[in-house]
Amino acid sequence: MESGRVIQSAGKWYKVRVGNDVMDCRLRGKMRLQKKTATNPVAAGDLVEITRLDDGTGQIERVQPRKNYLPRQATHGRRGEQVLAANIDRAWAVLSIQNPAFRFGFIDRFLVTCEAYDLPAGVIFNKKDLASKNDLNTLDHARSLYQSLGYSVLATSIHQPDSLNSLKEELKDRVSVFIGPSGVGKSSLLNALDPNLDLRTGDISDYSRKGQHTTTAARLVAVQSGGEIVDTPGIRELGLVHISASELSLYFPEMKRLSGDCKYYNCTHSHEPGCRLMEALEQGLIDPERYNSYLQILDSLPESE
Ligand code: GDP
Ligand code: ZN
Repeated sequence: MESGRVIQSAGKWYKVRVGNDVMDCRLRGKMRLQKKTATNPVAAGDLVEITRLDDGTGQIERVQPRKNYLPRQATHGRRGEQVLAANIDRAWAVLSIQNPAFRFGFIDRFLVTCEAYDLPAGVIFNKKDLASKNDLNTLDHARSLYQSLGYSVLATSIHQPDSLNSLKEELKDRVSVFIGPSGVGKSSLLNALDPNLDLRTGDISDYSRKGQHTTTAARLVAVQSGGEIVDTPGIRELGLVHISASELSLYFPEMKRLSGDCKYYNCTHSHEPGCRLMEALEQGLIDPERYNSYLQILDSLPESE
């Protein structure tokens, strides 16, 4: 048996990098029958063991235990979770300052998932060149907010090569994943990191591009500037998985610190008297935008048991 890393999964076939080769592989029959919790049992970034078959394809015999993984709620009405990427050193939300303008809600949902799934996280604000004076203030606020919570924050522009240096530094020697809506510049950034990739970029309203995006699966690419990145298709909203209302505040680092201090042990921090978090909000110790995201996410979760 040989070891490899899954680059891409598309239906029944998986592209697996084995040494310097990329092999088309299928799952061993027995593995397909195992009880599934995810819509895809093997994802980009998975470390696998394969055997070579006579026809030149491979068979995945075993998936090694994952260090971590990034899930989202399965789409197209399917139940369960979809694994976007496995064995990740850092997960990045990639957004743009303008065109389209980012939402704090997207970032906070993403960060909740990262906290719940033990993924070191960061935020990339791209299209810095389009920022107005007002946008720059928002960016400053976002930067100090998220940095104070322990997340990495970068502001980039493909038109300002110097702005890409810290990004290159952060990606080097790591496996990272990029998550973000279409049109924020993920493909453009990847092209800037490695011109050989020559990924298609363009206007989201372009019809052919929309078609392309719905069919493109997450895939792992090694970039010239160093490191490997799982590029995921445009994601408008990251559906949360297996997160209950009662534990939500534990995934907001600034709330986690205080959540044991409320009057009621099962406080949801939304209306209860003697809530330490609402007091901290009044005192300016919790950012109102973050608290707003907390309430919105709380509202979207199924009732906790
Ligand atoms: P993706 O859907 O996230 O992969 O986004 P693309 O890479 O296709 O970029 C969408 C559009 O934004 C394209 O027209 C790019 O040229 C443009 N774009 C990407 N990065 C930047 C940037 O830093 N500044 C500006 N002004 N435009 C950018
Ligand atoms: Zn409370």
